[in-house]
Amino acid sequence: MNKNIENILACPKCKSKLSLQKDNIPCLKCKSNYKIINNTPVFLDKLSYDEISEESFRDKLRKNTKLFRIFKKIHNVLGPPDSNYSKRARVKSGKVDFPVKYTIRENDLILNIGSSSKKIYSNAINLDIGLFENVDVVADGKEIPFKDNSFDLVLIESVLEHVDEPERVIKEAYRVLKSRGRIYISIPFVFVFHGSPNDFNRYTLNGLKKRLEITGFKIKRLGIISGPSSTISQMLRYYLATLFSFNNDFLFSLFLNIFGWITFPIKYFDIVLNKYKKAHLMASIIYAIGEK
Ligand SMILES: [Zn+2]
Repeated sequence: MNKNIENILACPKCKSKLSLQKDNIPCLKCKSNYKIINNTPVFLDKLSYDEISEESFRDKLRKNTKLFRIFKKIHNVLGPPDSNYSKRARVKSGKVDFPVKYTIRENDLILNIGSSSKKIYSNAINLDIGLFENVDVVADGKEIPFKDNSFDLVLIESVLEHVDEPERVIKEAYRVLKSRGRIYISIPFVFVFHGSPNDFNRYTLNGLKKRLEITGFKIKRLGIISGPSSTISQMLRYYLATLFSFNNDFLFSLFLNIFGWITFPIKYFDIVLNKYKKAHLMASIIYAIGEK
């Protein structure tokens, strides 16, 4: 188990002290009992990613890992570049969206909510709903299994659109942050439906700001990661694939790749447009940094 979490774990339901044992973690107050699987604390009853995901082609492939790897390799070679342009910044542990660099400080304890299997930040605790590689804690962002005032920084990158009650996650992030701790949220605004496993929300720049303020955060920065050209590039790709698919899934996937190759260069106009005042009107992905 990640050494950094042993002292700050708390019952996700009643926030009381847990008794860390070999294979399980009982709550001393409400008597809930949680498991330790593969040396990772699991705070969800329903563990399986597949059970809660929608039955898409990708998910079916993911079950057959070998086939998924082959498909991914082919897609990596033949698939079009991302339709979204975003400026990247280099931090110690790798490349991140550029605004993240304003939040990262040496020796900070970071909570990365919805981390997936990526270990981008070396001093981050990765939290996700599935027992993926590099996940330190399996839990729901709406009931975070940590004590109050535990973290210096909470990252929620392109995650809140997949949560049915995003405000609860923001509230929980506020609770587990230390005083003057920071939150970084990125979320799509004008973006196609993408279920992984599901897709419920879009925020405007004003909406993101308001929700952070309602929770108690002071806004430090607010802006755009991918602007209007990324939106047009993505929408054209999906619109043309739908138009030429004749309602057939295979043709849709095929044309998504073909039109992806034709339309992806549009995104580079965002190198300039991201700086325009009106860019947020139809931005693809936005972000905010708040302080507790
Ligand atoms: Zn409890």
